[in-house]
Amino acid sequence: MADIEKYRDINGYATQHNVELIAVSKTRTEEEILELYNQGHLVFGENRVQELVTKQANLPKNINWHLIGSLQKNKVKYIASFVDTIHSCDSLGLLAVIQKEAQKNNRIIKVLIQLNISNELSKQGFSINDADAFFDTKVWLPMQNVELVGLMGMASFTQDHSKVSAEFKLLKSKFDHYQQAYFANQSSFKEISMGMSGDYQLAIKEGSTMIRVGSLIFGNRY
Ligand SMILES: *Cc1c(COP(=O)(O)O)cnc(C)c1O
Repeated sequence: MADIEKYRDINGYATQHNVELIAVSKTRTEEEILELYNQGHLVFGENRVQELVTKQANLPKNINWHLIGSLQKNKVKYIASFVDTIHSCDSLGLLAVIQKEAQKNNRIIKVLIQLNISNELSKQGFSINDADAFFDTKVWLPMQNVELVGLMGMASFTQDHSKVSAEFKLLKSKFDHYQQAYFANQSSFKEISMGMSGDYQLAIKEGSTMIRVGSLIFGNRY
């Protein structure tokens, strides 16, 4: 069961700070998603393609689905007809496939570029150097069916707040740099997706515009 009180608290806090709450519903049931939907919540994040496809088919069509987990190129086709935003683009090749599949569906898919800000080997995303090189190519310019809307990152899983803050600061500084260098005339590059159950307040302090919160709302995953 979703914790509606907790949801209201977090959503209120996010709204107050002009931040969008992505309710991370991975592993949770369709009933649990509907509990939030019935509160008026329309933005949900999933990290597995098959689970997302099933839930999208069964749940109300005005839900905005965000894919937040690592995405294999050969699976983009299953979500391209409906996914609103992909947070986890970590290669030029993946971006090209998203473009191709979005075009087939005559849609525009919003994409965030995921940066590895934690230096943990398990974390996905472009290294800072590779991200610099990626943006330098301006490879997205001719892509009519993807819209680069910002950056996503995950901080280290640690109680060390100064470390987490430093990682969020790094993402914010890379965002500011790319925004000025490549998107100065475009209002669409505006999102910094950072902050989860354990660190969303720190993330908001450091400039997050989208927080991805699951277990605080839905309880621990098993
Ligand atoms: C699971 C997940 C979240 C949410 O994590 P919680 O700690 O449950 O809030 C956020 N972002 C990504 C990429 C995730 O995989």
